[in-house]
Amino acid sequence: MSEIAHLGPVELLTPKFDASLAFFTDVMGLEIHAQEGDSTYLRGWGDYQRWSLKLTASDRSGMGVLGIRAWSPEALERRVAAIAATGLGGGWTDGDLGRGPSYRFRDPDGHVFEIYYECERYVAPPGLEPALKNIPGRNLGRGIACKRLDHINILAADVRANREFCTDALGYRLYERIELDDGVEAGAWMSASIAAHELIYTHDARDAHGRLHHLAFWVDTREECLRAADLWLDAGVEIEAAPSKHAIAAGFFLYGIEPGGNRIEVTTGGRFVYAPDEPVVVWTEADRKKGQAWGVKTVESFHTYGTPPVD
Ligand code: FE
Repeated sequence: MSEIAHLGPVELLTPKFDASLAFFTDVMGLEIHAQEGDSTYLRGWGDYQRWSLKLTASDRSGMGVLGIRAWSPEALERRVAAIAATGLGGGWTDGDLGRGPSYRFRDPDGHVFEIYYECERYVAPPGLEPALKNIPGRNLGRGIACKRLDHINILAADVRANREFCTDALGYRLYERIELDDGVEAGAWMSASIAAHELIYTHDARDAHGRLHHLAFWVDTREECLRAADLWLDAGVEIEAAPSKHAIAAGFFLYGIEPGGNRIEVTTGGRFVYAPDEPVVVWTEADRKKGQAWGVKTVESFHTYGTPPVD
């Protein structure tokens, strides 16, 4: 087993806080769990932790702190030692709402992470209990009613260096990657679980550092993804890429831009990796020219836009 259990929660920064909050609650269907200072803590009905998204008012867009949960207290200690040995360690913090001691560090590109083990599970308040006891929260069916946080794609000037940090120091499994004709690694799809992707790095076309490509929330069916596109359309959400299927990781997607400028995905599907010796899938430039799974060509902005935007 990986010493990392899974990805999240994630902090997202927005320069248009009220509009972003309305997007995540009314349109995406997340629930407000708590409010503290400039931040609102949100959750999907299927998130087992108290929150999966911390929306923070800021003068810029992009990612704040990316949380990752270790598998055990011992795994946390071992990963912290491995991170510290790379020289990228920051130090221990008190964690965040509902979460215990967390070790802050940066990846080689400068994104801020916190790794932790202790966290509180969500307990639904009276009136919001789910009918079944194996589901954390009640699905209120508002808007898209996203179930949970699924994955994140961050940008890096040097994908290979960051991928190697994640596999070597953090213990992520690498499932798929893009290698250009000149040998440069343009993307890496990693996971701590059998889900084909949790943590993705793709090349920052601006060669900037610490930027976000997109944050993805899960729905159970393709039909809900299609319905999400209809809801975004009527809500005036900028749709960047209409629903289709990715070639890499085989995930079904809908991409758009939330009011604060961050790219958000509604996702479902994707392959699961059961084999312990699963070979890493390497996609070439020729492969990528064929477009997404069903031949749809990827829109240009998908390769160039990230947050915060750079000139
Ligand atoms: Fe995605």
